[in-house]
Amino acid sequence: MVLAGRPNVGKSTLLNALVGEHLAVVSPKPQSTRVPVVGLVTRGDTQYIFTDSPGLLDPEYALHHAMRASALRAIQNAEVIAYLHPLAEYPAPDLVSVARLEKPPRAPIVTVYTKADLVPTSPNLPQPPPTSVVVVSALTGAGIDALLAALRDRLPESPFHYDPEEMATQPMRFFAAEFVREAAFELLHEELPYSVAVEIDEFREAQEPVYIRAVIYVERESQKGIVIGAGGRTIRALGEAARLKIEGLLGRRVFLDLHVKVMPKWRRRPASIKRLGYAE
Ligand code: GDP
Ligand code: MG
Repeated sequence: MVLAGRPNVGKSTLLNALVGEHLAVVSPKPQSTRVPVVGLVTRGDTQYIFTDSPGLLDPEYALHHAMRASALRAIQNAEVIAYLHPLAEYPAPDLVSVARLEKPPRAPIVTVYTKADLVPTSPNLPQPPPTSVVVVSALTGAGIDALLAALRDRLPESPFHYDPEEMATQPMRFFAAEFVREAAFELLHEELPYSVAVEIDEFREAQEPVYIRAVIYVERESQKGIVIGAGGRTIRALGEAARLKIEGLLGRRVFLDLHVKVMPKWRRRPASIKRLGYAE
């Protein structure tokens, strides 16, 4: 099932809360998710396969087009759609209009009102709310069980697709690149996090600590200097933050070897976007 909605409504935070592990990049800055991230939750006889998707936005450049296309694909492929919208902005507009779909998706939709902890008094939700409406807070965990129950009712019968112990399907090097990017969203400002892409050059798990060589791509020479910072201060802080995140998920010590290179205007070039893994 897919977690879909506009940018910044809390899709990635909810994925992490559901899985109980920090898998997906979260940021107060919008458009932090570029490709779908899959999280698995197995409870009793039910296996939930959650796909966190990029926010539904109006594309301004090639990367946005790729992000929107992958969000739409995730919606089309889903068996159940969790459509997220902040409770503070109740009521949610129609998913068809938000996603500018030509026709309603075939999968059932559960509307999930997020960030309930930010709303002191409940808006006028229908009483009792229909089972296709759930109010949650990823921060406090309120409503998460009700969400799982609502989704479970709408899931088709099928054998488990994954080992019940698994919580992710993507390789560790994917998460390593994502966590370097998340650190960039935390430590860099204005346009810069959006100009950052990350590629893992080497990932050697056989050694202790695990050796990871990552390249941070920026779009212009001038951005390279800012990412490195005076005396290398910024890139050191970035590497430290990213290393802790990677170690947290991997459960092992990591040596993160970071390099910065320029890939001119990669956000506007379909070939670069594809090479970086942001498009099919
Ligand atoms: P996405 O773009 O839809 O994936 O949104 P994110 O998960 O990246 O979250 C966007 C911002 O909303 C981040 O600053 C989150 O910390 C914040 N956020 C997400 N869920 C909650 C919540 O339940 N409560 C509060 N207070 N903030 C939240
Ligand atoms: Mg996100």
